[in-house]
Amino acid sequence: MTRVAFIGLGNMGAPMALNLIKGGFSLKVFDLVAESVAQLVAGGASAAKSASDAVIDADVVITMLPASKHVEGVYLGAEGLLAKIPSKALIIDCSTIAADSARKVARAASERGLAMIDAPVSGGTGGALAGTLTFIVGGEATDLERARPLLEKMGKNIFHAGAAGAGQVAKIANNMLLGITMAGTAEALALGVANGLDPKVLSEIIAKSSGRNWAIELYNPWPGVMENVPSSKGYAGGFGVDLMLKDLGLAAEAAVSTQSVIALGELARNLFAMHSSQGSGKLDFSSIVNLIKRDSQ
Ligand code: NAD
Repeated sequence: MTRVAFIGLGNMGAPMALNLIKGGFSLKVFDLVAESVAQLVAGGASAAKSASDAVIDADVVITMLPASKHVEGVYLGAEGLLAKIPSKALIIDCSTIAADSARKVARAASERGLAMIDAPVSGGTGGALAGTLTFIVGGEATDLERARPLLEKMGKNIFHAGAAGAGQVAKIANNMLLGITMAGTAEALALGVANGLDPKVLSEIIAKSSGRNWAIELYNPWPGVMENVPSSKGYAGGFGVDLMLKDLGLAAEAAVSTQSVIALGELARNLFAMHSSQGSGKLDFSSIVNLIKRDSQ
């Protein structure tokens, strides 16, 4: 049985790890938060005492961490994790991080004879739970084929974007568009409600009209319009404002290095930064509607 070390059991990592267990893989898991590890142990995983402990004997190492500094910290930091991973193992980093950071870790892994792919995901916590994520992979095609049996247990669509780091570039472009469309969707709904419309009726109309998009159809930001999405649970869980802000910052960095125009991406980054500065950083990103709508709405 393939032995998988899974590091990072947050909103995304925990359900992804559970789907691997359901899919017949043997998991040894680690997170800095002990309760997250306990939750996975209840689901059939074995607990590791540290990241190093998790990777001993692993055939595959998967990380699902917040940002570049965490991924670089785990693989290249004082713990010296790369030196502890068995030489034939495959590393799959599913975190959304800077493409340069992904290339740096992949290069270090390769210098130690380890294969690594960047495989950031799209589809949100709902997709992680349902096992319907989209994986956007950067790295060697042969390494993607090795990863495919695992990725298929956690996702439905698997794309090969190109060489190491390419998965991150594609993911960042996608998330910049998501930040823009979520803010735009919130703005359209607030406008309609301020002018007397029922947000549910307006959402149904937009979902079948030319303004149709992922936010309105599957992740509606207006409370009470859709069940089982963060807006109907006080914006708890989901994809945090600070994570969206991080991704929009990564898009801005990528734009500066290539002199690309991202006028709307920068505007969205400023809106999410303002929202975060007002104490909403840990809420789901669809709470951007609270920055936009009138208090009375
Ligand atoms: P999260 O903050 O819920 O989870 C991250 C986990 O990593 C936490 O449990 C944290 O304790 C753990 N962690 C941090 N440093 C660690 C370390 N050194 N060792 C072990 N564990 C460590 O974040 P999330 O929502 O699960 O997102 C993870 C990644 O996936 C991010 O890069 C995010 O941008 C991306 N992503 C998230 C979503 C979403 O909807 N939440 C969707 C697509 C992609």
